Parts: sequence; structure tokens; C-alpha cells
Amino acid sequence: GSVDALDAALVGCRACPRLVRWREEAGRVKRRAYLDWTYWARPVPGYGPPDAALAVVALAPAAHGGNRTGRMFTGDPSGDLIYAELYALGLASQPTAVARGDGLALRGVRITSPVHCAPPDNKPTTAERDTCRPWLAHEMDLLRPTLRAVVVLGGFGWQALLPVLAAAGWALPRPRPVFGHGARVPLRSADGTGELLLLGSYHPSRRNVSTRTVTPAMIGEVLRAGAVAAGL
Ligand code: SF4
Repeated sequence: GSVDALDAALVGCRACPRLVRWREEAGRVKRRAYLDWTYWARPVPGYGPPDAALAVVALAPAAHGGNRTGRMFTGDPSGDLIYAELYALGLASQPTAVARGDGLALRGVRITSPVHCAPPDNKPTTAERDTCRPWLAHEMDLLRPTLRAVVVLGGFGWQALLPVLAAAGWALPRPRPVFGHGARVPLRSADGTGELLLLGSYHPSRRNVSTRTVTPAMIGEVLRAGAVAAGL
């Protein structure tokens, strides 16, 4: 299988009834600023090259962001922040992300999320996280030959990713590493042949940014550490 084939299969997924309703409802009601948009209203695949050395694992698409544009982190303030920081690091071809086909290309980094459909209040349930896990596991398997570092944005993504990494043969420290901004966990594959650096960053959600729990500079620092570890 290829990442393209994975993405093509993903967009047809309807496994979570609550999220299927929510993503489609957002596309019917729309937000006033986007009335002339035909919302994507389907699962949003990861974005970036299939041979990425760095993965960014977020939370879930926003109802009027990725769920509208059909591209990860595209069309909402959190994404504006992330792409501006990736551009500053030379990992994105432009600092803005508006729509599919806007010319944005990523270098060496792929952005994905543990839940691929927009959830109410940006809060997926643990059952939805678990239902979506095989997609993340498959994507991580496909990236594995080139992957050197993962930046996880937020505790939800951290909790979702750890079991995926464990199942893929990465030896996780015990007790399980705790999420935090700046968390840094070097992992070795159980057979000793591979290395992966796991990094934690607070999520650039509107609330985290407006309360200055996290700043663009703080997120940029973690992304830079990921890029360095990934050799980018
Ligand atoms: Fe499918 Fe994941 Fe969307 Fe659930 S969240 S419907 S598992 S793509």
C-alpha cells in the first residue's frame, strides 16, 4: 500500500456516526464567511510527502477549517500559526494555507491527526480516537522507513500516538512518558535498529493562544527541534 492509497480509502470512512453527522452538518449550515464554499465534509487526510522525516500529529480537523477546505490545518487560525512556523523553518513553500490547490508544498514534513473528522467542540471521544487509530497506525507504518522525529501537538494526540508507536515496535519507557510542552523522548526500536525522537508541544488552539499558554515562538522551537532531529 502507498500513502496515496491510504488517503483515498480514508476519505470514504464513515465509522464514527457522531462525527459523520457533525462534519456533514457543518457543511450544510456553514459559517457566514464561507457561505459560498462547498465544504469538504469528509475525513481529512494527512498532508505532506509520503517519505517525510518529520511527522506532526495534531488533534482533529476544525469544522470550518480542515473540514471546509479538505486539507489538514488549512483555513483556520491554528493552521495559520503552524504553516507560518514551518515556512520560517524552510519546511513549507509559503506561510499561508487557504485552500487545496493554493500552491502550498511541504518539505520533509507530513501533518496528520489521530482523528480525521471534525468533532463537536473540537473534542473527540476516546471511542472515536480508538476507532480512528488504525488509520494513524497505517500511516505511521508507511512513513516508518524515513521517519526520524514526531512532534505531537497536545495531550490528546500524545495519548493516541503512544499505543501506535508501541504496537509498531518502538520501546516506550516505563512509566509511559508524560505529555508536556517541551517533552522530549528518544525512542529505540525493540530490535535496536531504529531511532525516533518524540517531542511534545502544546496545541495551537485558539484558547491556548489567546491565554498565551502557548506562543508561536514556543511552537516554532519544538518544530525546529523536530526538524533538526529529522535532519531537515
Ligand atoms: Fe473514520 Fe476516523 Fe472519521 Fe471516525 S474519525 S469516521 S474512524 S476517518
